[in-house]
Amino acid sequence: MGSTAPKPATADTGHFTRPEPLENTYASDGSLQRQLSWYTPRETLDHVQPHLTQLGAEAISEQIREWSANAETQKPYVKSYNVWGQRYDYDRLVTSEGWKQLGRWGARNGVVSLGYDQTLGPERRLIQHAVNYLYSPSSGLYSCPMSMTDGAALVLTQHLKTLPTDHPFHAVFQKLVSRGEDFWTSGQWMTERAGGSDVQNTETYATYSPAPHTSQASSGLGEGDYLINGFKFFSSATDAHIALLLAKTPSGKLSLFLAPLRKTVVGSDGTPREVTNGVRIHRLKNKLGTKELPTAELELRDMRAHLIGPLDQGIPTIAPLLNVTRAHTFIGSLAGWRRAISMAKAFAKGRTTVGEPLWLIPMHLNLLAEMEIRHRGAMNLGWLSIAVMALNESGEVDGTSAPHLPRAGQEATVVLRVLTATGKAVISKSAIAGIQECQEAMGGVGYMDESDEPEFNIARVLRNTIVNATWEGATGVLASEMIRFLVLSKKNNFAVFSGWVERLLGLIKTRSLGQALGGCWAAFAARLSAAKEPRFLLADGHRTMFTLSWILSGILLALDAERDGDGVATEIARRWVLMGEGGVGDMVWRDIVHRPQAPVEGLYTEEHLRWDCRIAWGMELPAREVVGHRSLSKL
Ligand SMILES: Cc1cc2nc3c(=O)[nH]c(=O)nc-3n(C[C@H](O)[C@H](O)[C@H](O)COP(=O)(O)OP(=O)(O)OC[C@H]3O[C@@H](n4cnc5c(N)ncnc54)[C@H](O)[C@@H]3O)c2cc1C
Repeated sequence: MGSTAPKPATADTGHFTRPEPLENTYASDGSLQRQLSWYTPRETLDHVQPHLTQLGAEAISEQIREWSANAETQKPYVKSYNVWGQRYDYDRLVTSEGWKQLGRWGARNGVVSLGYDQTLGPERRLIQHAVNYLYSPSSGLYSCPMSMTDGAALVLTQHLKTLPTDHPFHAVFQKLVSRGEDFWTSGQWMTERAGGSDVQNTETYATYSPAPHTSQASSGLGEGDYLINGFKFFSSATDAHIALLLAKTPSGKLSLFLAPLRKTVVGSDGTPREVTNGVRIHRLKNKLGTKELPTAELELRDMRAHLIGPLDQGIPTIAPLLNVTRAHTFIGSLAGWRRAISMAKAFAKGRTTVGEPLWLIPMHLNLLAEMEIRHRGAMNLGWLSIAVMALNESGEVDGTSAPHLPRAGQEATVVLRVLTATGKAVISKSAIAGIQECQEAMGGVGYMDESDEPEFNIARVLRNTIVNATWEGATGVLASEMIRFLVLSKKNNFAVFSGWVERLLGLIKTRSLGQALGGCWAAFAARLSAAKEPRFLLADGHRTMFTLSWILSGILLALDAERDGDGVATEIARRWVLMGEGGVGDMVWRDIVHRPQAPVEGLYTEEHLRWDCRIAWGMELPAREVVGHRSLSKL
């Protein structure tokens, strides 16, 4: 008998890579669980754990994949005229069934409402963002309107107290935080052709002109006292029920307004019908990613709107919204990045190359460990920001296990402002680089873009995360904001912030980590103090912000590891702070961010490899020796 001839592959036979299926996204995410356990009391966590576990299972379920694929394959479109050429009463934005279902799924799970659920206590923002983190990467970008809805809800909470109980804003708020089918979303219209970062260039105007037919113009949502005219260049929640928008009053200053997109009118025959509230969808935009999301250009003609907050105080009135949407952005980035790491790992488990299992090839193992370290550093920064947000909103959170939280009041306000800008900018940027690494780690399949197969469509995760660096403040804008607030403001913000950082440094018990980080912080603070000219400080804004972020993440990694002496957390902190591994990329002051001198023979040892395996896979390195190429294999 001769040996059987090798069978050539056909379209249907031969080798097929079979990645491991993705796991429950909550149960498998030890890093998320660590952060939640740090800032949330045990009993609150026990209470919400079943919900998080359930959501983690749904996030990778067949049903969600189906809706997500549907939202991606059936892109939104606009129909303004009927077949006879007559304009509809309002421009019809047609979205897919999957898109709508993903919205309902989010509302049901409380992506917005949990942030306002007093029964969860002061930590409600943390629980909300745990849900948001699990929801976001499976939401087909519905997470974007959710974030703006949350921002609008927060702005409203700050004004409801002063409004009569029959003011329409009360009903609007209830809709925004509804978990039922009746939930509403809110858009946010700030960006115009003349600038998104610089809203002072706004060419949208508001005229005070109360509706003549009502004695109390504020009695109906569609009967706001102002008429708005202008053009908004980016509106992502175009299917929203209401929008918050900036417009100039005759003073030339910006005010904040709330308007419904449609209103009900009664025709001459007495029949009520829904018509546009002066909003014309000029066109939907064609984008690099976020294709499920109906981002439009809008023309506003006599749109009836209500003023929110004091006249001509639009920027301070909308500012709290930005903290909220920026938090959604970096939590979304962290979550997309985690999903990408899970995909890359699932692929590595199913792939063999150069005669060896990919998941154990030392270079790949190191790459996966490095991904985890970078992600862990970013997680620490992101979740601290959410905890400070919770503290700021409620005036208290259980700080017994987190003594590093800032003190409620001025300290927490200053810290939050710095953290949300820094977190949004640095985490979004790091996530893009991190996801690209994961995409490459899946080889050619990682570059595929099968819109009806979202489970391993890492390309979609990448292009949908890229936007996070730009919207809600591009990196440069946030760096500028952060420096002007921290260093150039006439208030003592830097002193307050430094006091907090120095207290954190004092909490670190591991001498080597404390000393290294203390040295970096001293050099960082000295550089900022020495810089005299604002334009030079601003010119170096990127490096300032990324260096600060590296130091803060390093401090948090050290403190996190010291909580329980967890081996992986300790090794991650050591590598980040002392070994120059992990980090936030190249935009740092390299003389400050710790770069140790490596021994001549390099850093790689058997011990390092073993820790790579523990960091990447949470397990001991298997006995089988994997070298990295069949030509070097001893077997
Ligand atoms: C998919 C998508 C959806 C969006 N959805 C919405 C939405 O729903 N609502 C909305 O209002 N907007 C939305 N935007 C707009 C987005 O917020 C803006 O594009 C963004 O804020 C940047 O503004 P810009 O486009 O005017 O760019 P510019 O402001 O012109 O910025 C260009 C560059 O200049 C830099 N820059 C600007 N100012 C400074 C400075 N002071 N110092 C240093 N560098 C600076 C920026 O960092 C950036 O790199 C969306 C954008 C995208 C891509």
